[in-house]
Parts: sequence; structure tokens; C-alpha cells
Amino acid sequence: MKRRTFIKNSGALGASLILPISCKQSEAKQRKKSIGVALVGLGYYSTDLLGPAFSHTENCHLAGIVTGSPEKIPAWKSKYGIPDKNIYNYENMSDAIDNPDIDVFYIVLPNGMHAEYTIKAAEAGKHVWCEKPMAVTVQECEAMIAACKKHKRQLTIGYRMQHEPNTQTIMQFGKDKPYGNIQNITAEAAFKGWSDKSNWKVRKALGGGAMYDMGVYAINGARYMAQQEPIAVTARHVIERPEIFDEVDETTIFELEFADGSMAKCRTSFNNHWNLLRAECENGWYQLEPMQSYTGVRGTTSDERPLNAPIKNQQAKQMDDDALAIMNDTDPLVSGEEGLKDVRIVRAVYESGANGGKRVPIVYS
Ligand code: NAD
Repeated sequence: MKRRTFIKNSGALGASLILPISCKQSEAKQRKKSIGVALVGLGYYSTDLLGPAFSHTENCHLAGIVTGSPEKIPAWKSKYGIPDKNIYNYENMSDAIDNPDIDVFYIVLPNGMHAEYTIKAAEAGKHVWCEKPMAVTVQECEAMIAACKKHKRQLTIGYRMQHEPNTQTIMQFGKDKPYGNIQNITAEAAFKGWSDKSNWKVRKALGGGAMYDMGVYAINGARYMAQQEPIAVTARHVIERPEIFDEVDETTIFELEFADGSMAKCRTSFNNHWNLLRAECENGWYQLEPMQSYTGVRGTTSDERPLNAPIKNQQAKQMDDDALAIMNDTDPLVSGEEGLKDVRIVRAVYESGANGGKRVPIVYS
């Protein structure tokens, strides 16, 4: 007898007694019209961008929160109507294994905590959305992918640009080559910030540094523009505020080398405003500027094609796309494997920077 027929014939109670938790959850999911998301970590990005974005989503909703700061709970409860039973802390979030309201844990913690909490979430039987950068090391990324595979949960990385329509147009240009082969790419992502050492983003222990924070936009952008993987990198670091940047990089200038001879000249920084993705091709050019802002990503081409398709809310689009992938059991747009590729390049950039800008080949296993 087929499993579905058996479930139907045996009735809901019988099925719930017999099926393991993961099966019960996946059966429940097929009936769901909206995916329940719990945000893990209620800092800047959750508070200012992701929480408010749920008012624009159609395929998912904010179902719960995980926080180590109880004083934040009343404001989230009153703003989003989150019931007590869907509020967890870092120690008891595994209890959500029995909570059908929560389908996804969205990890919005410091980068150095992404691996531990992604694995915890997968072990609790939940799909995982994890913020960029995926993690700090390649080994962490591999462990995250393995945990989600083992528990048959989706793992997707919060690269919102890959869901943005103008970005998707230039990704398609990379495939169709309307201006001929790309010869050179410029990829720059930076903002000016941090007046002291209090933020974890300038500390090594939790995965700070410009490369992990903004550099991944330049790397990811260069890769989706080129539609190929780099074979080697060279890099150098510039420190202008040594009193703050004594543990991590402040500005990093790096080049990605592709097998066809084209190059991506990249820059990232915590001390500049850079926001450009540009391709010089055999028969023209195209660019996005800004390439990674929360709103207003736009661009143009050498033949003056406007790249200015509107989008209501990037975070809502990303979460809706990812929720749909769970509902339809299809591959998410940005997989864990995609996040791992960037972390591998970040590590090679750091290796080159630490060794006087030597050429570091990217090793794909
Ligand atoms: P944040 O410092 O504002 O928030 C971090 C949260 O983690 C806070 O709620 C903090 O209380 C909690 N936390 C738990 N343990 C902690 C510890 N040991 N030290 C410090 N904080 C701890 O950071 P953020 O800017 O919200 O960034 C969180 C994640 O989101 C990062 O991975 C970042 O790269 C990502 N992010 C993505 C985007 C985007 O556009 N996709 C934008 C901003 C941040």
C-alpha cells in the first residue's frame, strides 16, 4: 500500500502515532498555505528589515522568535502578535521540534554563530534560512549542508540580491551574452561605519571583517555577473583606523581570475561608500549602481537600456521565493552550496592578503 493511501485509510490519529516527526511535519506542510518563520536573533537586520517585511509577504508569516534578550519580547509580541508558545531562547529552541507553527528558523545572528544555530535548527526538524555570509569557514558550511541534508530540510542563504529583478536581468545577460563575452568586471560593496570596537563586526571571534560583511556582495556579484567560478585570487588589505581594526580587515582590494582570462576587480570596505557592479564586454557594457542597496537597485547599458524594474520589498520577495520552494519542494534559489562558494573565496582572499598579495588558487573539491 502506498504511504499516502495508508495515511488516508488509517485516519489522522493513527498516522500521527505511527509517523516519525519529520514525516508528520512534511505532511502538515503540504496542507499549509503560508510558511511559519521564526527569526533567530533580534538585532538590527531582524528589527529594522525582516520583521517589517512580513507585512508584504504572501507565502510566509512571522510565527515566532528566538532571543537571548527577554527585554525585547514585549515589543515583538505587541507589534507582531506572537503567542508565548512560539517564543524561544537559544537554549530551548530545540523544543520547537513539536511546534507545527514554525516551519523555518531564520538565523540572523553574528556570522560566527551561523553554523551552530543552523545545525540546531535542522536537528529540530526545521528548514533553515541563514543570513550571509553563510559561515566563517568552509568546514562550517559543509557541516551546515550535511546537517540539513541529514534531516531532509531546506537550507537557503539570505542573498537578497539574487531575488531582485534588475540583478536577475544582469544574471541572464551573463548567460545570454547580449554584449559578447565579458572581459572585465568591477564589483564594489562598502559602507562607512564603526567609531569604536564595541560591535562584533569589527571583532574576529564572531566572524567580523569587511570581507565577511560586505565583501561577499562583491564576490557574489562578480560570480553571478560572470556566470562562472574564479580559479584564483590576489588581495591586499588597507587599514586606515588601526585603533578599531586591529583584529579584522577594514578595506580589502582583491581580484578574481576566471579560466577564460577575464578578471573581476573587487573592493570592499567599512570606510568607504562603494556600490557598483559593472561588466565590460566585447561589444559594450552594463552596470548596476547601486548594486546592493535595500531599495533603488538600478542600472543601465552601453545602448541605454534601462535596468529599473520596480520591487516592493527585497526581503519580502526573498522570503516569499524561499517559502514557495518549501511549499513546492523545489530547490531554493540560493542554496547552502552557493553560500559555501563565497566563503571559500573569502578564505582565499584572506590567505592572499596575509601573504603579501600572492596568487592563491581556488581549490574545488
Ligand atoms: P546585530 O549585531 O544587530 O544583531 C545580532 C543579534 O545577535 C542581536 O540580537 C544579538 O543580541 C544577538 N546575539 C546573540 N549572541 C550574540 C553574541 N555573542 N554577540 C553579539 N550578538 C549576539 O547584527 P545584524 O546587523 O542584525 O546582523 C546579523 C546577521 O544578519 C549577520 O550575519 C549579518 O551579516 C546579516 N545581515 C544581512 C543583511 C542583508 O542585507 N542581507 C543586512 C544586515 C545584516
